[in-house]
Amino acid sequence: MSRTETVTTENASEAVDLSTGGATAPDPTRLPLPEATQPVEVVWRYVFVLSAVHLIACLALVGWFFSWSGLVLAIAGHFVFGMFGITIGYHRLLTHRGFTCPKWLEHFLAILGMCNMQDSPARWVAIHRIHHQHSDHQPDPHTPLASFLWSHVGWVVCRHRELDRTLQYERYVRDLLRDPFYLKLERQDAWFLIYLVHAVLIVLVGGVVGWLGQGTAMGALQLAASWGVWAVAVRTVFVLHGTWAVNSLTHVFGYRNYQTRDHSRNNWLVALTSHGEGWHNNHHAQPRAAAHGHRWWEFDMSWRIIQMMELVGLAKNVVRPKPVADPDT
Ligand SMILES: [Zn+2]
Ligand SMILES: [Zn+2]
Repeated sequence: MSRTETVTTENASEAVDLSTGGATAPDPTRLPLPEATQPVEVVWRYVFVLSAVHLIACLALVGWFFSWSGLVLAIAGHFVFGMFGITIGYHRLLTHRGFTCPKWLEHFLAILGMCNMQDSPARWVAIHRIHHQHSDHQPDPHTPLASFLWSHVGWVVCRHRELDRTLQYERYVRDLLRDPFYLKLERQDAWFLIYLVHAVLIVLVGGVVGWLGQGTAMGALQLAASWGVWAVAVRTVFVLHGTWAVNSLTHVFGYRNYQTRDHSRNNWLVALTSHGEGWHNNHHAQPRAAAHGHRWWEFDMSWRIIQMMELVGLAKNVVRPKPVADPDT
């Protein structure tokens, strides 16, 4: 069953067709890289920062950096920063307005989102709205029809000449940028500063806990380093690849409940590792729905949390999927 819905964001001045991106069927084989990325120009500061966090995460293979508290914090951080920040905050709330919540909570979720090294809320949302508008058509910023590697990470580290400055993507995120909070975050990589501050805080608290527990400078240093490697770097890398996998894997591997005009798929592995985001074909079919799992067994952790938020009055105007008698047809 094909689903096409035109969605008007809460305050957006223009309606955006988020599900299909156009009337024509996609080229089933290949697409060139988006025009605005050609000729390809690598953004070395992105390469440097992403390489650094991956290299630091590799220290997890060295026993000295391991601590059970670091491992527990990495798993907890995957939920707190990854799920609340990215899947619930950046994606279902800010991009698709699948529910509303008090401003203080919305801003808090956005701050959690910035602790994942995934750009400012406005730029993330703009890129993702462009993806929905043109998915697997030009100029989708990260279609695997260009290449799998491009869809996973290539698009992150290559310059997109129409996404360099806020003014260029402002039309996709007018609703967000009316709020001075998001506007300020666009200035001078403020979002990256927030990422650094949260990382330093985690390391410092690790040092204090290590000092209190061991009573030695070496004990403090060891736990600070362990938390830096596990609770910051390993968790950041895991969440990064989870988000990137939604752009790459779930447009290539998996099954389809809906005949959307893109190549989106439902992928259980991505759904498990990214708190329900892997039910991506369902999501492309009904982008505004806050629930991405549409069959009873398509477990969607983020949706369960949004339901709990609704139950306690923190989430309102929750958009539910349209009832589907038989999604196979
Ligand atoms: Zn997609
Ligand atoms: Zn989306």
